[in-house]
Amino acid sequence: MAAKKDPYRAHRWIDRFVLVAIPAAGALSWDPGLWYASFGIAFACLIGAVFSGAFIVTRWAEARSERIQGPRRKAPMLREEAWVTAQAMWVMAGLAAWPITAAQLGHETGFHWSLEGTGWTPWAAIGVTLLGLVGVDAWTYWKHRALHTQALFGFHRDHHTFRDPSAFAGFAVGPLEALWTFAPVLAVLHPEALHWGPAYVFLVVGFVCLNLYLHCGVTVGWIEATLPRIGINTSAFHNVHHSHARVNFAEVATWWDRICKTRLEDGTPRPKKPSQASAATTAEALDVPVSAPA
Ligand SMILES: [Zn+2]
Repeated sequence: MAAKKDPYRAHRWIDRFVLVAIPAAGALSWDPGLWYASFGIAFACLIGAVFSGAFIVTRWAEARSERIQGPRRKAPMLREEAWVTAQAMWVMAGLAAWPITAAQLGHETGFHWSLEGTGWTPWAAIGVTLLGLVGVDAWTYWKHRALHTQALFGFHRDHHTFRDPSAFAGFAVGPLEALWTFAPVLAVLHPEALHWGPAYVFLVVGFVCLNLYLHCGVTVGWIEATLPRIGINTSAFHNVHHSHARVNFAEVATWWDRICKTRLEDGTPRPKKPSQASAATTAEALDVPVSAPA
């Protein structure tokens, strides 16, 4: 019998290409030596921060008896989650290396620790930061919706192999998805695109903490009660995306899910005809609800 055709062959090759192209692009930078040093340091820092955060949150979550999907029947896929996360951090480091190198060379960028001499008032800077947050939220929601179309699901498949994720899956996305998610980092290269250091660092650290919590598999009462009040995603809300795939696409805020009625409680659309892909991956690629892990 002929071997089953891999429906995601092209996606896998494009993902591999991204992993190679990211460091290769550094050779074209203003100072390749400095770029590669920045890339290496950024990668080490990202891996160190995300893995130690994921380790702490996973140990903490394991000690809690109440899990969203009930007691685990299968061991968590920690090694697989960490491997996919490492690839995403590789891509993220390759993007971050550009503004880091530019700053070290004294190029003018949009990143400012202090507003002094920039012409921006603190209120204007806060306004721009909030606007940027709304923009990033829309970017991530619509990216996620696009990645659930049949044409693009191959780039998102890895994240959905973790039906009952741990915090190590917080950033476990494929290389092209990582490039898509983190590309806005490059906006800082533009001198006019204000990134106010204190607010920017607060939001980035907050985004990392939120992502670890969203994937930890358990809930904390006061966090679940507080975050929805300001429209922010929670562990209970995002866990449903891993168990059902078709709904709850929010990555930061849940506004777009409410507007587009893509929450679990809004009901799920009629399943489409399955393709030749495997049952599990087809269910997700075609946006068909999938059951909780056996
Ligand atoms: Zn998804």
